[in-house]
Amino acid sequence: MFTLQFLGAAQTVTGSRFLLHIDGKRLLIDCGLFQGGRALKERNWEPFPTPPADLDGVILTHAHIDHSGYLPRLIKEGFGGPVYCTPATADLLSLLLPDSGYLQERDAAFANKKKYSRHHPALPLYTEAEAREVLKHLKTVPYHQMSRLSDNLSFEYLHAGHILGSAMIRLSYKGKGAETLLCSTGDLGRSRQPVIKDPETIDRADYLLLESTYGDRVHEKHDILSYFQTLIQQVVQSGGSLIIPAFAVGRSQNVLYYLRQLEEAGRIPVLPIFLDSPMAVRAVSVYCDHLDEHDFEMKSLTAEACVLETGSVRMVKTTEESKALNQFKEPCVIISASGNLAGGRILHHLKSRLSDSRNTVLFVGYQPQGSLGRLLSEGKKEVKIHGKRIAVKARIESLHGLSAHADSEEILEWMSRLKHPPSRIFLIHGEPEAQESLKGKLEKVISSKIEIPEYLEEVELS
Ligand SMILES: [Zn+2]
Repeated sequence: MFTLQFLGAAQTVTGSRFLLHIDGKRLLIDCGLFQGGRALKERNWEPFPTPPADLDGVILTHAHIDHSGYLPRLIKEGFGGPVYCTPATADLLSLLLPDSGYLQERDAAFANKKKYSRHHPALPLYTEAEAREVLKHLKTVPYHQMSRLSDNLSFEYLHAGHILGSAMIRLSYKGKGAETLLCSTGDLGRSRQPVIKDPETIDRADYLLLESTYGDRVHEKHDILSYFQTLIQQVVQSGGSLIIPAFAVGRSQNVLYYLRQLEEAGRIPVLPIFLDSPMAVRAVSVYCDHLDEHDFEMKSLTAEACVLETGSVRMVKTTEESKALNQFKEPCVIISASGNLAGGRILHHLKSRLSDSRNTVLFVGYQPQGSLGRLLSEGKKEVKIHGKRIAVKARIESLHGLSAHADSEEILEWMSRLKHPPSRIFLIHGEPEAQESLKGKLEKVISSKIEIPEYLEEVELS
């Protein structure tokens, strides 16, 4: 008998944390930060549901902050064990976690200066220095290599096709003869995506934690290159700018890759493309350092140089350079983080450009319920940024086809490759509507028991 408790990403899409109590060990699968509205963020401040010092290890699926960003706090509260991850994830974490600490410190300082926080003084959840402590705990495990956790317990990583370094976890428990397999998809990616490898198939799982973010949707299968081409032509005609909030890791590189393709094909003019996120700039280097993890399509393009680093792309590093962009009035593309507007330089660009009807804001990623991004994409005519009211006159566009998450058809297609149905499937990392919809679709094709766990729910597995 062992237990699994859902400490996050339960009926919501952030805060991925799953506590496994197995073979006398307490293991945490992912250790993410809650993001989005105030109620979710408050959870980051609640005491961790189990004493962090009692945990034996953390197994990460990938580097995104909603899967890794609680680690500094976990260590601050007493966790001292190893944090397993793939080598590329370790490299990305060395960028993402200190940046997360830096942003928290900066946002707290800004809130104190502008006096818009309900808390006095506003404090960071953790500092940049505390975030760097996590890096000492990282233990890298390559794909397809069994890693032993105890006599009966081991796990391996498989490609998840979501972002560089992303992995599914296949955890094996060999107690009293038979082998029990618990698998977690982490964030399940899509086949035929640019740059990274496709998600692998798992042969079987007794228990499966299945991502369900887009369980109620099918991504637009339109021609992404033509979509970007049209938007950029419109921006050039109106003399405005195209602002793309994008996660620094993954999405920014994909957008860059599409724009480079269009430029090289002569389908758009060579106009300034600003990559305004120090982390996205450094992530470009990490992507170029891990060519072994890229699929053939990318390798053929990068035979001589990393395609993401060439041409008209301007890497914006310092705050001064970023602020100077406010004075840049020529048609241009600004790619900036964070992708869900939770913080970062993108907020300053929106503050200075949202009220100009010549500009376009293009969302290329998921915007959680209640977030600023969701309000904008739902057509709000006025929003608040850093406590200041901003009229929204810019055009707001959303491109869902660029998602790094499988849609409902792709999830079902991936599930159809399992040789045996799992005895139980837990839908994680999705909002209730998406989860109910996916559950209905799965029940038609698979005999497994499908559950939608609640926050902090604990289940017994045998
Ligand atoms: Zn992710």
